Amino acid sequence: MNERYSRQILFPEIGKSGQEKLLNSRVLLIGCGALGALHAEMLARAGVGRLRIIDRDFVEFTNLQRQTLYKESDAAERLPKAIAAKNRIAEINSEIEVESIIADINNSNIEGFIKDCDLVLDGTDNFQVRYLLNDACVKHNKTWIYGAAVSSYGTTMTIIPGETPCLRCIFEEMPDAGSSPTCDTAGVIMPIIATVSAVQVAEAIKILVGDFKSLHRSLMQFDIWQNDWRNIKPKGSNPDCKTCGQHIYEFLDTESQEFSAVLCGRDAVQISPPKPASLDLNILAENLRKIAEVKQNEYLVRLVVDDYELTIFRDARAIIRGIDDISAARSIYAKFVGI
Ligand SMILES: [Zn+2]
Repeated sequence: MNERYSRQILFPEIGKSGQEKLLNSRVLLIGCGALGALHAEMLARAGVGRLRIIDRDFVEFTNLQRQTLYKESDAAERLPKAIAAKNRIAEINSEIEVESIIADINNSNIEGFIKDCDLVLDGTDNFQVRYLLNDACVKHNKTWIYGAAVSSYGTTMTIIPGETPCLRCIFEEMPDAGSSPTCDTAGVIMPIIATVSAVQVAEAIKILVGDFKSLHRSLMQFDIWQNDWRNIKPKGSNPDCKTCGQHIYEFLDTESQEFSAVLCGRDAVQISPPKPASLDLNILAENLRKIAEVKQNEYLVRLVVDDYELTIFRDARAIIRGIDDISAARSIYAKFVGI
């Protein structure tokens, strides 16, 4: 066994056999923002053999305060987070495999992404994806680890289908849009990100090495500024829960009509194409150069028009910054991407 892991192998709960299990595991990371960057770094250093990282966004300077995998040059180049994460992990641990996917998670692709993974870590910033993830993981009997952080407050729960309550047992309905604070409205400090992600990754390692008796089995809540730490033990699964009690997968089964979303922490809107698409970025850039200054890398095309900045990915998704009105964003999308 590689000496790289010697200190971890000395830890008896992991040992040689646990290390082998980590090396033979595949973990799916949904989102590679603040929580996801730390998930990826800790799991890569621990020697989890295969990481599949999915993220829809690119690196910006506002991310650098808390998203540990990224550096100034990634923000300057607007590298997609999935790519910047893969590049950085290759420098940290070149012995593991990283599959990076630039995509928006939705009901048409999530089941394909989770099927061959041992475990899923939640690093997303929105409830829509979490409820979808909960449906998909209960349906496919995959363990997932919920985590969220905003301001100085964070929460996490480990969800093992058939054994623990699921997300919907605890939070039956998704909060109404605009009812919960977001990084955009309340800000966020890095120590709470580190706290939540540390508990999530510790749970992940326990599960991967098979030490289920050491799981915390609660809804953990922390406020790192107010020094408030809570460990709420759920009573058990709710037999009326739509997802794990009745096996009605509403989020998975409803044909999504939502092709746009206001992004957390950003003065920005994301528009997705109505059906899967693949753009030739060179042709797109050439056309757009006739009307504005265009910057391009291997993964995206970017242009600044009037007061907003438009970033278009190969899958025909666009992130429009400088705007929070979805219908205005849609018309900009139609004008420049034309799908
Ligand atoms: Zn449930």
